[in-house]
Amino acid sequence: EAKQHGKSHFEVFDPTMHESARARLDLECELRRSIDRDELYLCYQPIVEMASGALIGFEALARWNHPRLGQVSPEQFIPIAEDTGLIGVIGSKLLRMACRQMETWKASEKFAAELSVNFNLSAKQMSQNGLADDIRDSLSESSLSPDCLRVEITESAIMENLHEGVELLCDLRESGIRVEIDDFGTGYSSLALLHKLPLDVLKIDRSFIRKMLTSTENIAIVRTILTLADSLNLDVIAEGIETEEQRGQLLEMGCELGQGYLFSKPLDCVQIEHLICQACTWKPQGQRCAGGPF
Ligand code: C2E
Ligand code: MG
Ligand code: MG
Ligand code: MG
Repeated sequence: EAKQHGKSHFEVFDPTMHESARARLDLECELRRSIDRDELYLCYQPIVEMASGALIGFEALARWNHPRLGQVSPEQFIPIAEDTGLIGVIGSKLLRMACRQMETWKASEKFAAELSVNFNLSAKQMSQNGLADDIRDSLSESSLSPDCLRVEITESAIMENLHEGVELLCDLRESGIRVEIDDFGTGYSSLALLHKLPLDVLKIDRSFIRKMLTSTENIAIVRTILTLADSLNLDVIAEGIETEEQRGQLLEMGCELGQGYLFSKPLDCVQIEHLICQACTWKPQGQRCAGGPF
């Protein structure tokens, strides 16, 4: 059949494109299998109060450990999960995992009752029927109260699904689940719109934090986001804090909560338990706990 299209049909195939298309298909197929093979799991990155270093919660981050390919980055497999529709099953499974983990941790006396877990929702999940019910079910299956869970949705995902998005966020908030807007500053939400969105927290995208100390433009952006959040009565979490200087600058500008390699990389559940048992949170330089990487 292909032959009938004539020679020109084949000329559009450049061999490198063919190669990457094959690799992608391969990964799709492996991702489909990974679900039942339990190759997907979560790491948890601490979110801290920057002045004291006190732990306030975690962001759950998906990980894929493939037996042959090794660790595959979520930057690579989440888009595939979205395009193939696998994100529904994967997201739901990971959310249950996060809830069960929180249930286990909450049972330990070292674990502060106020700690909560942030879970990322993708744009494709938002248009899925019954998502809010699935989230509520995950919570009740683990006997967790809704204030243990916070959902993160990127600014661009909300913009893509504005109508369904607003409805979903309202529904979740009515159930007591807090809503955070992820990668804030990279989308194009207007001020008028932001004012109407049902939100609790803005997470400043790490690209602004990274360039904050070398670019006055970026520092102005961060300052603007903080002022905006203040007037909308929203909390702010700065993402991707890697240096003491960034922490200091943010605190000076009135940003209280942060997440980044300076405090801790994403940790697996065993490492998190270790962190909690030591009751050891991140401390400013010179006051670090002995013995731990934290
Ligand atoms: P995100 O939700 O914005 O997550 C923050 C990302 O920044 C994580 O990358 C985290 O490891 C990284 N990060 C945190 N602190 C620092 C830092 O100080 N420096 C640098 N350079 N990076 C830092 P990760 O784990 O590779 O995840 C990438 C993205 O994949 C996430 O961005 C999120 O959009 C997506 N993702 C991860 N897990 C899930 C999931 O379970 N569901 C969905 N839908 N998306 C997920
Ligand atoms: Mg996130
Ligand atoms: Mg983010
Ligand atoms: Mg991101």
